[in-house]
Amino acid sequence: MDQTLNLIDTDKFSAHLRDRAIQPGPKRVLVTKFGGSQQEQDLTLPPNCGGFGRIHHFKRSQEPPWPDNPLPIAPAARALGLNQAEAIKAQVFQNAVCSWRCWYCFVDFDLLSANLRFSEFKTADELLDLYLVETNRPGLIDLSGGQPDLVPEWSLWFVEAIERRGISDLVYVWSDDNLSNDYLWRFLSAKEISKLATCSRYGRVGCFKGFDEISFSFNTKAKPELFSQQFKLMSRLVNAGFDVYGYATFTSPDGGMIHTKMADFVDRLQTEIHPNFPLRTVPLRILPFTPTRDRLGTLESRSLGIQTDAVIAWSEELRKRFSNKELVRNVTDQNIR
Ligand code: SF4
Repeated sequence: MDQTLNLIDTDKFSAHLRDRAIQPGPKRVLVTKFGGSQQEQDLTLPPNCGGFGRIHHFKRSQEPPWPDNPLPIAPAARALGLNQAEAIKAQVFQNAVCSWRCWYCFVDFDLLSANLRFSEFKTADELLDLYLVETNRPGLIDLSGGQPDLVPEWSLWFVEAIERRGISDLVYVWSDDNLSNDYLWRFLSAKEISKLATCSRYGRVGCFKGFDEISFSFNTKAKPELFSQQFKLMSRLVNAGFDVYGYATFTSPDGGMIHTKMADFVDRLQTEIHPNFPLRTVPLRILPFTPTRDRLGTLESRSLGIQTDAVIAWSEELRKRFSNKELVRNVTDQNIR
């Protein structure tokens, strides 16, 4: 069987989903409403903000051998003038489309396909109105997905709305990106990109979905060659001056020659993005959730073990390339300029 027949045509699917997920005139974006979804079953707190938001507790520690995850705790703490905590609370909003279908995604696929049963169009101001009436609201707002960069205007509209209301000192906006498209560059003007890139109340993360073409395509259902595009997109963000960080997921169906493959991955982060970019990149451990229960086949279950070998190889690779002083530096101080 030609395996490529089952792979996503990312360009076509992205364009289709963007069309269904944004109304540029009234500046509205299709936002997930969690009620009745599988994801809702995994939430530790009920949805808030009229059903359009959820509270997430980001924790720094991951179970060994996984390294600490300082994202977005460290950038948010710096921007909001907080102490570097072990955990931070975030107000999360999700846009309701994503162009990839990672088997490990903790969001049900119904919440990624512009399904109006689980979503409504909202402006940034409407979401901020809902946020501002919440008691004990966190200063960190996470624009997640889905894939927020299918509608890159969303982050800009949020930052602008926050400025208009005079609450910039109280809020830090963080957005997630799966590094699947260049819509930021296509749909925002140079001036708008520069505004976002230089905004001290905004940071972003891009997720590398694997350490090579095989793991990337296995994880995302996208064509293997798009693995390379992730480095190009991240390099563009770094060069534009964004305060940008990386996640990496290491599940793979193939655990052979893992040290060589990981050395190649770290080489590419250093040569195609910045020599220090591995120090801004955090491997994320994949865990099972309610929506992933039915997606776990033999290969997926096996890949959960391979990710542990991969992260051990990652940490060894970083220890070879950086001093201890560099490795323990605050992630926000890892220079990529
Ligand atoms: S890219 Fe992110 S939101 Fe999209 S399917 Fe993968 S994990 Fe889920």
